[in-house]
Amino acid sequence: MIVGAGIAGLTSAWWLERAGWDVSVVEKAPSFRAGGYMIDFFGPGHEVARRMGLLPALEARRAPISSVTSVDSSGRRRAEISTAAYEAVADGVISLLRGDLASVVRDDLRASIRCGTTVSAVDDGRVTFSDGSSGEFDLVVGADGVHSRVRELVFGPSSSFVRYLGHHTAAFSFRDVELSARIGHRYQMLTVPQRMIGCYAVRDGSMAALMLYRSASPELPADPAAALRERFGDLGWVAPSLLSVVPQDVYYDEVSQVDMPVWHRGKVVLVGDACGAVSLFAGHGASLAMTGACVLAEELAAGTEGAFARYQSRMKPAVEHTQEFGRRFIGWMAPSSAWRISLRDLAFQLSGLPVVRKLIRGSVSPDIDGVLVSASRTPRG
Ligand SMILES: Cc1cc2nc3c(=O)[nH]c(=O)nc-3n(C[C@H](O)[C@H](O)[C@H](O)COP(=O)(O)OP(=O)(O)OC[C@H]3O[C@@H](n4cnc5c(N)ncnc54)[C@H](O)[C@@H]3O)c2cc1C
Repeated sequence: MIVGAGIAGLTSAWWLERAGWDVSVVEKAPSFRAGGYMIDFFGPGHEVARRMGLLPALEARRAPISSVTSVDSSGRRRAEISTAAYEAVADGVISLLRGDLASVVRDDLRASIRCGTTVSAVDDGRVTFSDGSSGEFDLVVGADGVHSRVRELVFGPSSSFVRYLGHHTAAFSFRDVELSARIGHRYQMLTVPQRMIGCYAVRDGSMAALMLYRSASPELPADPAAALRERFGDLGWVAPSLLSVVPQDVYYDEVSQVDMPVWHRGKVVLVGDACGAVSLFAGHGASLAMTGACVLAEELAAGTEGAFARYQSRMKPAVEHTQEFGRRFIGWMAPSSAWRISLRDLAFQLSGLPVVRKLIRGSVSPDIDGVLVSASRTPRG
């Protein structure tokens, strides 16, 4: 039983059904979550996608983003990092919508997904669902994201495991042919101390928007669209256009990481953000979610006895390393003062220089590729 049809859940389903497991998936959302926000997909997850034979399908959905541009409140360019420079620091990066990555994995699955369903009780392998039905399973994979219900039911309250990183974020897509032509396939962003608003053209006249702001409290507002209007209403550039189209079901969340000492109990195991969210600041969450799913399936195939512990011992150091790196990246993505914004923009401007590229590489690429080499396959001696 896999709970959550996101990146980790779908990839777990893919590997487990190929290993001969009879897989069922439940998803809380009323329908499959397509679209969403743009992610940069690279690192070990990229290698997992290659092993799954999915790279051509992912490449076909690649967003043709040509640069990342920092603009001022009139939309004038302050600094720019070209895609060529970015690709030089982020090997093989594919920028695409989170929902496109999920769809590519889903389309290669045999298992069906029961949408509009969650779990109300998990007692080792015995699972009770929100529609009142229940079942007994050999393996329960909690892949239900940063606010995991499985984690709460089996391991304890979120407050014990979730580390708030002091920011709220929102992301949404909308159609605006004129704005889309004006912004183009450049990720453009306006940063003022403690706030960032960014957007880019996606395809067919559609745009994707991302907002990020500092907030002392992780508590989410009752009306996210109103909260965004209040926070960003004084900004110029495209802010008024974006704020006028925030959908009621906007993706809105606190930015946080998940840190828990043990990722498994009995027949239950967690994967992806549920046990190791690294946050959007670290930017490798989807990659690690796919890697975790693959490593879990590899260890189960090597023998169910002790498989969860071996999976955790391979994945946890990479997750912790990426989380630490993500906390350092906050200052890049959400600089807290005007001079820090200027410093970040200066680094963008100088990104063509090898020494600056090296510095940026250290900031955007944690060294986690080794996670895919299992201990049993590592040469000894
Ligand atoms: C704005 C933003 C930008 C990001 N940028 C990047 C990036 O550039 N690169 C990168 O690699 N990562 C990035 N990430 C992180 C990445 O999206 C996540 O780490 C990744 O999606 C985690 O996968 P997951 O399957 O664990 O969780 P999710 O993708 O969140 O999927 C969880 C699934 O479980 C479902 N669910 C939730 N609760 C329940 C329940 N109770 N019952 C059943 N189902 C449930 C959800 O609806 C969802 O479908 C970004 C994240 C954000 C928010």
